[in-house]
Amino acid sequence: MKKSALILFLFAFLLISCADTTSQKETTTTDESPTNSFGLVIHGGAGTILKKNLTPELEAQYKETLEKAAKKGYDILKNGGTSLDAVEQTIHILENSPLFNAGKGAVFANNGKNELDASIMEGKTLNAGAVAGVTNLKNPISAARKVMENSDHVLLARKGAEEFSAAQGLEVVDTSYFFTENRYNSLLKAKNKNEKDKAASLDPYIKDYKYGTVGCVALDKNGNLAAGTSTGGMTNKKWSRIGDSPIIGAGTYANNKTCAVSGTGHGEYFIRANVAYDISALMEYKGLSLQEASKEVIQNKLKNMGGDGGIIAIDAKGNLVAEFNTPGMYRAMVDENGTVTVGIYKE
Ligand code: ASP
Repeated sequence: MKKSALILFLFAFLLISCADTTSQKETTTTDESPTNSFGLVIHGGAGTILKKNLTPELEAQYKETLEKAAKKGYDILKNGGTSLDAVEQTIHILENSPLFNAGKGAVFANNGKNELDASIMEGKTLNAGAVAGVTNLKNPISAARKVMENSDHVLLARKGAEEFSAAQGLEVVDTSYFFTENRYNSLLKAKNKNEKDKAASLDPYIKDYKYGTVGCVALDKNGNLAAGTSTGGMTNKKWSRIGDSPIIGAGTYANNKTCAVSGTGHGEYFIRANVAYDISALMEYKGLSLQEASKEVIQNKLKNMGGDGGIIAIDAKGNLVAEFNTPGMYRAMVDENGTVTVGIYKE
């Protein structure tokens, strides 16, 4: 009797262990099978972007530039290039276009200048670099990369950042390079609105402002993630205001263990909600998927705080995400097959 009970017990134990191994194997296989072995997502800003406010010509221009940028990044990744190169060079296309609030198309600060911020992060090493308040660098994203690779620091600001970047051989331009009529008119409008509204807060112009920051996240064939963000910040900003874009963890974050994230929206909220890092942390510590973590942070946490905006993200398995709580976000995704999906409005 005792012996048969023991045999029964051993048999049951064996069965349970087998079942356990099978289920573990299944989970591991699912976890390891990638959605895309490489890929990338870009954004060109989120905000009150409504179809009725965009002419068909302008809409076509946005789509064309987004597609061109996404394809540039794709080609780099397809040819075995690094996610860092893909992020930097894709962002160059967006920075060099007057359509977006970064580089050439940067918005004006209250003092009539363009003060640019950018950051970049590498998921493999957790190295990062950023510049803030630079006024004469054609491509701030490259300055951020130089800070990451050739300095002992993470964030350099204003004159010092400009001197460092020039010494690194980056292209310096006359400040007039950043003049665009549209952006200048937006500054005049914002100033006028602020004068009418005597409240000393930043709110009067922020609420109806269209965020136009640019960003890119990428996964390369070696499984390395990278994220970058570049912006002119907020129209009519004062007192050397710096937003979330050059703040690692707020506007940009990348970690090979989890994901790469770039944000756009009302920077003060992104800084306080630690948006980009929070998405990574939810994945790392709570086991949420990229989609779940992004939704939680953008649609619940950020929204409940009153923050407008969105993010693009990619995880180590090549899942691609664009999540925003505004009516629109300029965006494009490209998978390992080279299929580009461009979007502007909610649906
Ligand atoms: N996040 C940027 C900032 O606050 C603005 C934007 O996304 O357009 O500086």
